[in-house]
Amino acid sequence: MIGTAPAPQIEPLGSQAEREERLEALRTAFTGLDTEYTLADGSTVSRTYLDSAASNLRLTVADDIVRRALRHYANTHSELHFGAHVTTHLYHRAHQIVNDFVDASDAYTSVFLGSGVTGGLNRMAQVLAERRPERDLVITTLMEHHANDLPHRKHVGEVVHVPLEKDPDGDAGRVDMTALRAAIQEHADRLNYVAVTAASNVTGVINPVHEVARLAHEAGALCVVDAAQSAAHLPLSVQGGDDEAIDVLCMSGHKIYAPGSPGVVVARKDLFEGLEPQAVGGGIVDRVETDRYEITDALPEREEAGTPNLPGAFRLATTLYLLGRIGMDLVEDDERELTQYALERFEAIDGLKIYGSHRLEVADRIGVITFNLDALPHGLVTAALNDYFGVAVRNECFCAQPFVRKLLGRTSTNGDATSDAACSPEAQPGMVRVSFGLYNTKADVDTAADALADIAARPDWYRSRYRPLRDGSGDWVHRNFDFEPARAFSLEKEVDAWLQSA
Ligand code: PMP
Repeated sequence: MIGTAPAPQIEPLGSQAEREERLEALRTAFTGLDTEYTLADGSTVSRTYLDSAASNLRLTVADDIVRRALRHYANTHSELHFGAHVTTHLYHRAHQIVNDFVDASDAYTSVFLGSGVTGGLNRMAQVLAERRPERDLVITTLMEHHANDLPHRKHVGEVVHVPLEKDPDGDAGRVDMTALRAAIQEHADRLNYVAVTAASNVTGVINPVHEVARLAHEAGALCVVDAAQSAAHLPLSVQGGDDEAIDVLCMSGHKIYAPGSPGVVVARKDLFEGLEPQAVGGGIVDRVETDRYEITDALPEREEAGTPNLPGAFRLATTLYLLGRIGMDLVEDDERELTQYALERFEAIDGLKIYGSHRLEVADRIGVITFNLDALPHGLVTAALNDYFGVAVRNECFCAQPFVRKLLGRTSTNGDATSDAACSPEAQPGMVRVSFGLYNTKADVDTAADALADIAARPDWYRSRYRPLRDGSGDWVHRNFDFEPARAFSLEKEVDAWLQSA
C-alpha cells in the first residue's frame, strides 16, 4: 500500500465475493499464456511468464472491446461524421478514465505521450526546468531506474541520489526518509523537485510517495512519481493527505497489461501554463498564419500534437477501467499472497540470495524478486530456466546500474557505488529477476522454484551445457541447443499464408 488508502474514483463493481470471482476469471484472459516452446531436452511446454516487470501480457478482453470500438475508427479532431464523433468522445473518455484511476481532480491533466515512463519523465523534466530555471537541482533515490535519473541530469542539471534505509534483513529498504529530509534542507534553494519511484524495479520495495511529496512541498519543491512498476499492482492516488498531493505521475501502458498503448503523464495543469509544447503541428493550434501561430490553451491537446495512438489509448483506458472495477485493493492483496509464497519458496533454496528483505512485514514490496545463485552466473541461470524449464525471467542490471552495483557490494571505501566495470558493457555482474502479473499462480512459482532448486543442486552439469557470450552482457548460450525465433513466428510467413488462402 502506498501511504493512506486512496478513495478510487472508479467504483469497484459488485460484492467482495463477486469481485474475487471476476479476478479469478481474469487470470486466464491474457494473450500469450499458453504459448508453447520446445526445450533443450526436446520436450514441449507452455511457457511460464515471470517477466512482468519488463512488460506484462495483454488483456484479451480489452483487445476484444477495443476491436469493437475500432468499428467506429476515424481520426479525432472532428465531430461531424459519426465515426469521428465516437472516436473523439472515446479519446476524451480515455483521458478521464486515466485521471479517475489515479484519483486526479480537474486540477490535473493526463497526457498520452511516447511509449512509456521514459517519454513522460523526459518531457516533464523539460517542463519543470523551463518553469523554474533558477532551481537546477533534483533529488532522487539510489533505487531509481535510469529513466527517473538521466532526464533530470540532461534537462534540469545536478541530481542528488539519496540512500536507502537498511532493512533489518540487511540489504535495501525504501528511501531513507531522514537522509531525504537532510538532502532537501541542504539543497532547498536550488531544489526543483524530488523524483521518486513508487516501487523499485529491482527489489520491488515500495516507497512512501505521499510523505516524500510533503517533504518536497515544505521546501517549495515539487514531487514527481515514477509509477511504472506500481500502476498495475497497487492502488495509487495522486491526492494523499494535507499537502501530500503528487504533482506529476508517470505510467507505462505496456506495464499495465496494455502493450501497444502510450505512456501517460498525469500532472497539475498549471505546470504547463505559458510553456511552448515540445512538438508542434496539427491538433494543437487555434490559429496559424504564414508568419505566426497561436497554440491552444486546452490541455491535454497542447501537449499532444498530431494524430494520437488511438487504439493504444483505448486499450489502456479499457484495461484501467477493468482493473478499477475489480478493485486495485484485491489486485494488491492477490499479488501480495503470491509474492509471500514465492519469497518463502525461493528462500528455502540452498545458495539462493534474495536482494532486499524476504519478509514483507519488514520491507513491503510488489511482486518483484531479484536474486543470485551462489554457484552460477546470472546469465547462465536465466538461460537454463528458459532452455530447460520454459521459465521466462530477466537478468543483468534492469537499467538501474548504480543500485544493482550497490546491492552486489561493488562499492568503494566511502560507501558510494563505484564506477567500476560492473554492469557496464564489458562486465559480467548482474542478477536474476522474477516478476509477477495477474495471470501468475502458485503453480508458476512452484515451476520456477523447482527449476531453481535443480539448477542450484547441479551447477556443474548446467555449467557444462553453456558457454559465456563474452560480448559484455554477462549472457550465456547453450553449446548445442539453438532457438530460431523466425521458426517460432514470422510476419512474412503469416502474410503469405493468408494471401495463399485468400
Ligand atoms: N521506471 C521504472 C521503475 C521501470 O521499471 C521502467 C521500465 N523498466 C521505467 C521507468 C521505464 O519505462 P519505459 O521503458 O516504459 O519507458
